[in-house]
Amino acid sequence: MKIEINQIELPLQYSDDNIITALANKLSCQENQILSWTIKRRSLDARPIRTAPVYSAVIEVELSSSYKPNFQGQDFTIIKESNLINEFPETTFSFRPVIVGAGVAGLMAAYYLAKSGAKPIILERGSKAEFRSVKVNNFWENGILDLNDNVLFGEGGAGLFSDGKLTTRSKDKGRIFDFYNILSLCKAPEETFINAEPHLGSDVLIKIIPSLRKHIESLGGTFFYNTPMTDLEISNDSITGVITDKLKFETKAVILATGHSARDVYELLSKKNIELEQKPFAVGIRLEIPQDQINTARYRKFKDHPSLEPASFKLTRLPEISCRPCYTFCMCPGGRVIACANENNRLTTNGMSYSNRNLKYGNAAFIVPVMPSDFKDCTGIYEDKALYGLNFQIKIEEAAFNAAGKDFSLPALMLEDFLLSKVSLTLPHDRSCPRSLPASFDEIFPDFILNTLRIQIPAMLSQLKGTQRADAIVYAPETRSSSPVRILRNDYGYSPSVKGLYPIGEGAGYSGGIVSSAIDGLKIAGYVALSAL
Ligand SMILES: Cc1cc2nc3c(=O)[nH]c(=O)nc-3n(C[C@H](O)[C@H](O)[C@H](O)COP(=O)(O)OP(=O)(O)OC[C@H]3O[C@@H](n4cnc5c(N)ncnc54)[C@H](O)[C@@H]3O)c2cc1C
Repeated sequence: MKIEINQIELPLQYSDDNIITALANKLSCQENQILSWTIKRRSLDARPIRTAPVYSAVIEVELSSSYKPNFQGQDFTIIKESNLINEFPETTFSFRPVIVGAGVAGLMAAYYLAKSGAKPIILERGSKAEFRSVKVNNFWENGILDLNDNVLFGEGGAGLFSDGKLTTRSKDKGRIFDFYNILSLCKAPEETFINAEPHLGSDVLIKIIPSLRKHIESLGGTFFYNTPMTDLEISNDSITGVITDKLKFETKAVILATGHSARDVYELLSKKNIELEQKPFAVGIRLEIPQDQINTARYRKFKDHPSLEPASFKLTRLPEISCRPCYTFCMCPGGRVIACANENNRLTTNGMSYSNRNLKYGNAAFIVPVMPSDFKDCTGIYEDKALYGLNFQIKIEEAAFNAAGKDFSLPALMLEDFLLSKVSLTLPHDRSCPRSLPASFDEIFPDFILNTLRIQIPAMLSQLKGTQRADAIVYAPETRSSSPVRILRNDYGYSPSVKGLYPIGEGAGYSGGIVSSAIDGLKIAGYVALSAL
């Protein structure tokens, strides 16, 4: 018999003996009646009412036939059969689908289609993951930007230099399970996926992507690097091919997985009259604070416990009469604030961590929703109204570039100065982003964003008792938390304007974050496979 049991308490440094004893106690059985067990999930319980922090685990157990069920209640479920989707049906394809963009969405679509026998072609504007670091470090250290190989572009996409957080609000358990299995196959540490808040870290991601590429290649996929798509060939409202700067590929299915930083792609789609629409997004700042203060706020009396991971936080504030809601996003414990750019003279910020999250500061975005009504009159480079959200982002990003030395240094302020609308005279020598300069944020953001951040951040930080506002540094601007544009698609996953053009992932406006982009890639690849039947 197989049972799933909830709420098994385990010490943080648990052994097999701890697990067997805890299971036998919970099931009121002999230890030798437990044939095997697998931890499915574990979450930390460090509430101050406890004498020591523990994991609360969900464990799947196989019991011998001598065990007579002796349990009641919600903590036990008898496992009948798995209803998770983890199959990639083999299909006969008369053409090779072309995937544009090797971020997580494109790579998952490529994996699915390669497994299904489609021999996909993957076009990537940047380099292989392992070659990106040199260019990215040159940008962070010297402000020298490569337009195709940077924090946002190149194999592995925008998620490569990230915290690698794998949290999601998606309920698509089957595809999340598939995604985690694929990552495990590609050398992701198994233990990652049992954590309630799994994360990989940028140092691990950079090893996973080459392994994933090799799997896709071994299944018949072909990658072309430094090969940006420059045009689409369309005939009778159907896709017939993709044009790059050097080659042309004929196909009946193009999966567009170019992310939301590829503004040239939105422009191309607009020129081709492919249906696009405005969508809400969010803009704000990134706030950095000493990690030991975050640990104090979250773990209180256990703050110095040697087995506890650096703590994270998630904060939300509802709107007030005089301002909008505000929420934290993409918190990176023990991480770095980084500059990001993929275009000249435009600058944005984000956060990243390594797998051990052991740096001195934690950071998180504090962002304010921006609605289409906020940019309805936002004329600029893009004339198509569907792209006015890009004009809105660009105004902020150009102002940020101009505010702090015009060399991709990030504008930064002490939080207290930002709240008083002052420019800091200096910044602490010891901060996670040394290429940052004091600059007025009032020149960067519209008033409704400044006003909301100034009202909401102090109230939010007051929920983190133990953090010192005077030690917090804020960096600007967070503009790329999600896409301001949606590329429409129909019930079969392709654009209503062009048969065979499948927009996926964050750039298409159907996902936000690594996991939801991955599962969107898997889902739409399934539609492409169906179309070949
Ligand atoms: C610094 C940073 C940290 C982040 N941290 C996290 C995190 O911890 N957890 C999380 O869930 N999310 C995080 N995110 C967000 C996450 O990275 C994105 O949600 C995810 O990468 C979206 O995947 P995607 O495949 O849709 O697009 P992208 O990752 O943007 O990939 C698009 C790909 O298309 C390529 N491309 C673009 N144009 C062309 C073209 N014309 N021809 C060929 N190729 C092209 C690009 O080079 C890129 O490889 C972070 C983002 C950043 C920038």
